[in-house]
Amino acid sequence: MRFNTALLHSAKLGDENTGATLTPIYQSSAFYQPSAEQHEKLFHNKATGYSYTRINNPTIVAFEERMTNLEKGVGSVACSSGMAALTNALLNIVGAGGEIVSSTGLYGGTIDLFHDLEAFGIKTTFVEISDNEAVEAAINENTRVIFAETIGNPKLDVVDIKALSELAHSHRLPLLIDNTVATAYLVTPLTLGADIVINSTSKYINGNSDAISGVITDSGNFKWDAERYPLLQQYKMFGKFAYIAKLRNGLFRNTGACIAPQTAFYNMLGMETLGLRMERCSHNALALAQFLESQEGVKVNYPGLESSPWHDIANEQLHGGYGAIITIRVGSKEKAFAVMNKLTIPQIVSNIGDTKTLIVHPESTLNAHSTEQEKLDANVYDDMIRISVGIEDVEDLIEDFQKALAD
Ligand SMILES: *Cc1c(COP(=O)(O)O)cnc(C)c1O
Repeated sequence: MRFNTALLHSAKLGDENTGATLTPIYQSSAFYQPSAEQHEKLFHNKATGYSYTRINNPTIVAFEERMTNLEKGVGSVACSSGMAALTNALLNIVGAGGEIVSSTGLYGGTIDLFHDLEAFGIKTTFVEISDNEAVEAAINENTRVIFAETIGNPKLDVVDIKALSELAHSHRLPLLIDNTVATAYLVTPLTLGADIVINSTSKYINGNSDAISGVITDSGNFKWDAERYPLLQQYKMFGKFAYIAKLRNGLFRNTGACIAPQTAFYNMLGMETLGLRMERCSHNALALAQFLESQEGVKVNYPGLESSPWHDIANEQLHGGYGAIITIRVGSKEKAFAVMNKLTIPQIVSNIGDTKTLIVHPESTLNAHSTEQEKLDANVYDDMIRISVGIEDVEDLIEDFQKALAD
């Protein structure tokens, strides 16, 4: 099945008992058992079923299956937010004394998380991720994972996943990719060699900004060696599902990072139009970026433009567009604020991935806790506006920006 068909038909939806065409929201914290014996089996992974929604739930499982199909993995764990997914994905394989090698062009919250992990004895080295030598130099015997975003938010650098995964694997390290900005519509990192993918499904997967969640999807391909990942060894019997089994039997259930069944339902609805929305907003973003680039005093960063240093790798790796995030620099913070305040269609909002166009001034908000060097490395400047382009009629967006940019 092709992309849009698969979104609608690749996983069973609905309820055989009643003929409901959508998977019901199982709004129940717990599930009763037919016998004490069955309950014991459930708790020893000797039977499948449900006991408690913090661990799993039929609505959530239906959503996880759809994410697994979408990202072409073997299994997924849905979490309460993108940050919860990222935290769980990392801590499942990195402990005290372990290190992370990460790209610099990250979502501000992720940079903050890496700092928070320092208190638990986990160090992160930030490197220019397209520079193989810099990545090699950052790897040492304590490194446990390499991390990057497919399209860095808001740096908009497109990571060469194939090359980076080959490099990671040559050091027997897994590559963890945050695919939130690109989505599986543009690229499926697991098919290019990445080992684990996380998505903040609060964004394009949900699509309407009506609920927060995140998902971890595993390729099942990485060989976890006993010396570096000792805690994974007890899950070896799960084969390709070892990473996911460890998560669900350990950190995920014990940190209580579960998604609400209602949110899983919203996400399944939203996902049906992921292809349509990504096609439209990527198309709009390219048209808006081209218009903005023609405006005097405006510097535009968008992987779809030839002026982007990542245009070639974007062409090679992304399919069906270049995503819907653009950043522009307008000369000063004052000008940036003035433009934002003058725009009438885009709302000033800190997230991305809505049907509607959203704008934010990252330097004073999302990256408020980053150091000056981190901001520079992430290409965050005080005259920069990030635009998350929606599915409006692009002519209206262009007219609005034209007016707002005029003095
Ligand atoms: C929003 C975002 C996150 C965090 O996701 P939440 O669902 O808000 O916790 C992580 N990574 C990227 C790239 C994001 O855009």
